[in-house]
Amino acid sequence: MIQAKEYVRPSSLEEAYQLCRRRSSVVAGGMMWLKMENIQKQTIIDLSGLGLAGIEEDEEQFRIGAMTTLRMLETHPGLNQEFDGIFRECTRHIVGVQFRNGATVGGSIYGRFGFSDILTCLLALDAYVELYYGGVMPLAQFAAIPRSITERNILVRILIKKDGRRAAYRTVRRASTDFPLLACCVAKKGGQWQISLGARPQRAKAVVISENEESCGAEGWEEQEAIRIAKEGVKAFSFGSNLRGSGEYRRVLAELLIRRLARQLQGQGEAGSGMGSGREQSKNGTMTESDQSRKEDNRR
Ligand SMILES: Cc1cc2nc3c(=O)[nH]c(=O)nc-3n(C[C@H](O)[C@H](O)[C@H](O)COP(=O)(O)OP(=O)(O)OC[C@H]3O[C@@H](n4cnc5c(N)ncnc54)[C@H](O)[C@@H]3O)c2cc1C
Repeated sequence: MIQAKEYVRPSSLEEAYQLCRRRSSVVAGGMMWLKMENIQKQTIIDLSGLGLAGIEEDEEQFRIGAMTTLRMLETHPGLNQEFDGIFRECTRHIVGVQFRNGATVGGSIYGRFGFSDILTCLLALDAYVELYYGGVMPLAQFAAIPRSITERNILVRILIKKDGRRAAYRTVRRASTDFPLLACCVAKKGGQWQISLGARPQRAKAVVISENEESCGAEGWEEQEAIRIAKEGVKAFSFGSNLRGSGEYRRVLAELLIRRLARQLQGQGEAGSGMGSGREQSKNGTMTESDQSRKEDNRR
């Protein structure tokens, strides 16, 4: 249980930042994770009075405040329309609706948890973080920084450009609301494929693979391209073992997920949430069997 002597709800970011620079303080998002930690602090800094809960959209980008809840991401029409429903897909397995009404985007990204669905999803979209001290930086750069170095800062917003990319997301879980065994997001922009893998079980990271233009248009090239991207993609990642699965199992699953998501983005198949159920979800939300896709996977 977390214990603190003092609770402060700052009315400005500067006040919050000055308080958070003290080693004896802790910033609170939704406190869903923090409340399980066994720590004692002098001051809890509640960011809920700073107007950071909300998603702003203009022609160029989305600006997601740090106190936006996961449920707001899940149900935001603009975000889900722009990115093919991946925000619905990457949040819907996280515990339950009540939990997602409390957990925040800021806590999910600042926490940089290895299992994070949100980090995996945003990395494939080339998102940026806006920090109170330090300004805007690519999320990929922020995610790679050891947690201890950025301990004393405030995450203000996440920025996602509307750059025309399409994206697809999928996880494998041993049970529906468990932490993911593997999380995968694939995005396509022009001739570039951006692949993000989380829960390996290390922290998510993303790589970019260029389309093989020479083979474009040849018979069956989409399928061959999906296979090539998946094989190239997994080479860029390391996979570890934990209670949920071995590194080798994760590597095999990763190749399969990347291939399926690439095919989905090419319009050849629809990928849903989990693999255990053997069912796949179409974009309009109805559940459909996709035997064709499984048969193809089994043949390899
Ligand atoms: C039982 C359980 C199951 C979960 N399952 C999943 C899952 O399957 N997939 C998944 O992706 N996530 C999962 N999570 C994580 C969850 O989605 C949230 O990411 C997590 O609870 C943190 O969000 P929060 O708003 O509660 O942050 P808090 O608990 O309030 O904070 C988390 C950390 O971030 C810091 N922090 C918070 N906001 C800011 C800010 N704006 N600036 C600077 N620092 C900040 C805090 O100081 C703290 O160190 C799970 C969590 C729990 C407790």
